[in-house]
Amino acid sequence: MSRKLKFGETPFDNLSHDEMVAVVFKLYNALAMAYGVIGGVKKIVAFDIGHDHYWHSKDGGGYIALSKAEEIFNDQTLLKKPTPEEMKIKAFKLYAALTSAHGVMGVLSQLATMRLRDVSYWHEEGRVGYTVLTKTKNLLEEINGDLDAFDIYHCFFKYATPILLDCDTVLGTDGKWWYCKSCHSIIHPNDVEENHHRKPCNGKVRLLTIEDIVTFEKRKNERVL
Ligand SMILES: [Zn+2]
Repeated sequence: MSRKLKFGETPFDNLSHDEMVAVVFKLYNALAMAYGVIGGVKKIVAFDIGHDHYWHSKDGGGYIALSKAEEIFNDQTLLKKPTPEEMKIKAFKLYAALTSAHGVMGVLSQLATMRLRDVSYWHEEGRVGYTVLTKTKNLLEEINGDLDAFDIYHCFFKYATPILLDCDTVLGTDGKWWYCKSCHSIIHPNDVEENHHRKPCNGKVRLLTIEDIVTFEKRKNERVL
C-alpha cells in the first residue's frame, strides 16, 4: 500500500541536506548517462519517429529530453554550494529531466522492438541501452520509495515540470498552467480564458510558479479560515 501525497508534496520533502546532495548527484549522473544513450540512438533512428517534430520542436519529447539535459549540464551553480532551498529545486529539476529522458528511452526501446532493429541493445544485460534504462528506472523507484509514481506526478510534476524545464509541453500536459491569486484556482493551459471566467471571480490570472504549487494547500486553508 503506497503512502498518499497531498497536493504540492514531493518525494524530496523530508530529506536532510546531505541526503538531498547525494540524491542530486545520483540524478545528475543518471541524466548524463541517459543523455549519452538518447543522443547516440537519435543518430540511428532520427528518421523513424516523426523526425522533425520529435527531435526539433519545442514540444517534441526527444527535443525536450536532450535540450533540457544540456541546459542542466551547462549550469555551473552546483559548484557554488547551493542553499538547501536551491538544492531542492535542483533535485526537482533533475527528477523532471530524468523522468522525461526515461520516457524517451522507453519510446526508443519500443521502436527498436517494433522495427526488430538491434533489440539486444535495450534488452540484453551488459548492453549500454539496457544498463542505462535499468539504472534510471531503479533510481526513480528508489527516490519514489513507498510513494506511487502516478501520485507524485499528479500532486506536483504535472504542474511543475513545464516550469522547471521551461518548456511548453511535457508528456501529459499541453502547456504551462495558470494561477489566479484571488480564487486560488489552478487553470489548465488550454482553458485559461474560459474556465476561469465561468467562476464568479474577476481576479487576474498569471503563470503558475513552483512556490504556488508548494504552498497551495496552505493557501487553501487560509482561504477557508
Ligand atoms: Zn479567480
